[in-house]
This record gives sequence, C-alpha cells and structure tokens, in this order.
Amino acid sequence: MSREVRVRIAPSPTGDPHVGTAYTALFNYVFAKKNKGKFIVRIEDTDQSRAKSSSEDMILTSLKWLGLKWDEGPDVGGEFGPYKQSERLPIYKEYSQKLIDNGTAYHCFCTAERLDTVRAQQKAEGLTTRYDGHCRTLAADDVKKRIAASEKNVIRLKVPTTGTVKFEDHLRGELEFDVDRVDDQVLMKTDGFPTYHLANVVDDYLMKISHVIRAEEWISSTPKHVLLYRAFGWEAPVFCHLPLLRNADKSKISKRKNPVSLSYYKRAGILPQTLVNYLGMMGWSFGDDKEMFSLDEMIEVFDLKKISLGGPVFDLAKLTWLNQHYIQKLSPDHFVDYIRDEIFSKHYLLALRPLLQDRMSRFEQFVDNFSFFFNGPLNYQGIDILPKGKEVASMQLMLNELVEQLDELYDWNHSAIHDLLNAHREKIGWKPKDYFMSVRLIATGRKDSPPLAESLEQIGREMVRFRIRNYLDTSLGK
Ligand code: GLU
Repeated sequence: MSREVRVRIAPSPTGDPHVGTAYTALFNYVFAKKNKGKFIVRIEDTDQSRAKSSSEDMILTSLKWLGLKWDEGPDVGGEFGPYKQSERLPIYKEYSQKLIDNGTAYHCFCTAERLDTVRAQQKAEGLTTRYDGHCRTLAADDVKKRIAASEKNVIRLKVPTTGTVKFEDHLRGELEFDVDRVDDQVLMKTDGFPTYHLANVVDDYLMKISHVIRAEEWISSTPKHVLLYRAFGWEAPVFCHLPLLRNADKSKISKRKNPVSLSYYKRAGILPQTLVNYLGMMGWSFGDDKEMFSLDEMIEVFDLKKISLGGPVFDLAKLTWLNQHYIQKLSPDHFVDYIRDEIFSKHYLLALRPLLQDRMSRFEQFVDNFSFFFNGPLNYQGIDILPKGKEVASMQLMLNELVEQLDELYDWNHSAIHDLLNAHREKIGWKPKDYFMSVRLIATGRKDSPPLAESLEQIGREMVRFRIRNYLDTSLGK
C-alpha cells in the first residue's frame, strides 16, 4: 500500500503573512486534496527573538481568507500535535540526545569569541568559513564533566568529512552536494531551543509527512536534512521545491519592488478567489489556455510534476486584470456584500470612529475628507510635499529609513508609531513641522488629517509602506 499523502506548510511567524506562504500553501493544499491526503499547518517559532504571536494569527487568518483549510494545525489540533514548535521542546531534546547516543552528533563548547577568531582566520586564508571541528573529538569524560559543571554548549551534527549527499528533487531530478560544503550544523542552541534544521526534520518525521513541498530557497538546506534523516536512520520524504516567485525584473519577490503581504492584497480589494487563481498560475497552468479557474477545478486536473521551473513573475497588473474579471462575475448580492463587509466593515468603521466623529458636521463630508482610509495609492499632484530648503536626497534618505523602521516595528499601534516617529525625527534632526507634515501628506494626502500616528495605525503598515514607496518612485523630484 502506498503511503498516505500528508503535506504541510511550516511558516515562521516573523512578520506579515507573505504571498510566498500562500503560494506554497496553495500547492500543498491542492496536492493533498488531489490525493485524498491531509494538509497540515505547523508553526515554526523556534527563533524566539523573531517570533510573534500576532504574526501567527495573521498567517492563519490570511490562509482562511483564501479558503485553504487545513486538516491539522495549531488551532484545530490533530493526532500528531502540538503543531507549534515552541510547544515541542522536550521532543527535540529527546531526539538530539538520540543522535548524541548513536555518535552522529556531539556537544560543542566553543565560545562565540573562539568561533569569531576561527572565522577571521579562515577568511584571511581565503578559505570557506565553517566550524573547524574543534569539539568533535573531545573525550567522553571531559564532555560529561563540562556538562555537569553547566558549561554552555550547543549540539552539532557530525557531518561526514568526505563524500556527497544526494537526493531526488521531484521537479529537478537528482541533486548532489559535496559534504565539504556542509558545515557541522548546530542542532540545539545554548538556550535549549532547536535550530530550524533539527526541528523541521524531527517534526516532518513524527508528523508522517510524505512530501515536503516548499520554496526553492530551501534546496540548500536539504542536504543537511538528508544527513539528519540518515543520522536518525529514517526514510526521508519526497522533496519538491517550488520555483520562487519573482518581481518583474526577475529578482526574488521582495517588498521593495512588490507588496508581498497578504494583508496588503486584502486591503487593496483583491478578491481571495482572484489571488488563489493567480497564484495557481505561478509555474503551473491549467491547460487549454484557461486562465480563470476555481480551487476545485484546479484540484481536479492538478499534477505536481507539471510545475515548470522558469521563475514565475508575480505581476500586479496581471493580478489586477484578473481581479476585474472576478469582480464582474460577482452576483449583485456578493458585490454589495463585499463593499459593505470588506471595505466599509463595521469593524473598520468602529476603529475609525474616534478619528472621525469630532471632525464632521455633515455626513456628506465623510467620503471626501476620509477617503485616504479606504484608497490605494494617492495622487500628490498639486501638493507641495518637499519642505522648503530640503533636498530631494535628504527626503529620500529620511523616507527610506522610515520605511525600514516601520517594517521592524514590533506592534503596529498608535503609541508605538508615535514613539517611533518622534525618535526618528529627533535622530535626523528635522524640524517637527517639516517632518510630520511630510509624513502626513504622503500617508494621507491631506494637511488636515486626524492625528498622524492614529491615522497611520488605521491605514495599516502595508498601505503606509506602499504610499511612501509610491511617492519615492513616482513623485519625489519629478
Ligand atoms: N520555517 C520555514 C519557513 O519559514 C519552513 C521551510 C520548510 O518548509 O521546510 O518557510
């Protein structure tokens, strides 16, 4: 009997839900449904310095919005849970110990300073920087004593020193890597957390994942994973690396050139069925030149092998074109419901209310005065944004810095935004009036918007970033 198809996506909750996550999820979902298998969501939150629970919620919400329902996951549970790696720490401890016991992994006590020195030396000699194996051959007694004395250590995989690692990629055929390109990777960190490699392999095995369908950028990690499967004596799943989504210039899709957050697309009024359909055309085609198809239709004809590797371009204009067709197809009820439930949802209007209620004398002012809460890109024609005496270059610098800082803002709320703006202004030494008016005009298109930080909070990180980038690319200095 062939193995039950069980596939998963394993997002790390470190930011806004990414369009690449939706893409991978879609192909996993469709493959699972085609084969009457299971689709699983596992949250890979072992990088505690970067993981955020708000990000996890947004990822799950966005996938639900797209209609990609999972059979097992952190919120719905399942036979192989927990589905959140931070809740599986004892498992990784147990499994890393198995590798120590069978001699395929070792404790490493090297300090960060020593590793830095080794790296610098290797660099100076023109060598590839890697761990030099210093702790590979420590005497067992010595190791025992040092652990008993609570000396900080990590666990590393004992990667063979010669030979190759081969694996079959479902789309690319056999791939072969020299092991001397593979470092003695860390499996368990000093803080008792596993690294991505260990946790990913242990979980895929314990969750009985049959096919690992993930983005191409993980190909270089796969030899490490194959070595880990070997060290455990386990059979590896089928590996299938999907082509990366690309910007129009063929570079890897990035937020500098294309909005990448699913929240942005939802906010921009792209229908979920459009996005699913469009992502389905990335590297795969329905056949017969059919461009509009539903999830169910895709499942019916899907064949994983038919994915082509030429980097699919995620093209906003094409997505918008497709969305127009989906809008035209909406029934009158759906059309009206969408506007009411998504654009003017009660939830959003209630959040906006404190900013609006004291600023209106007639309701007819609502659409004109507050359109920037609902719009996409703004038109800056006839608005003087560059403060008097400021150079285009200094505005560019300030806005680029600001976007970067907003991207890194842990919690998107008005008091955090307020603090960030103040600190940034102070750092660059702009006058309050110049700084705040520039940001206000770019984000809202108006001199007289409600308080800035509160407005930015409601406009949303993605749209604020989009407007600043749009201003930089199309208006500043033109
Ligand atoms: N946590 C990885 C990510 O963020 C998972 C990669 C994989 O699917 O193995 O995408």
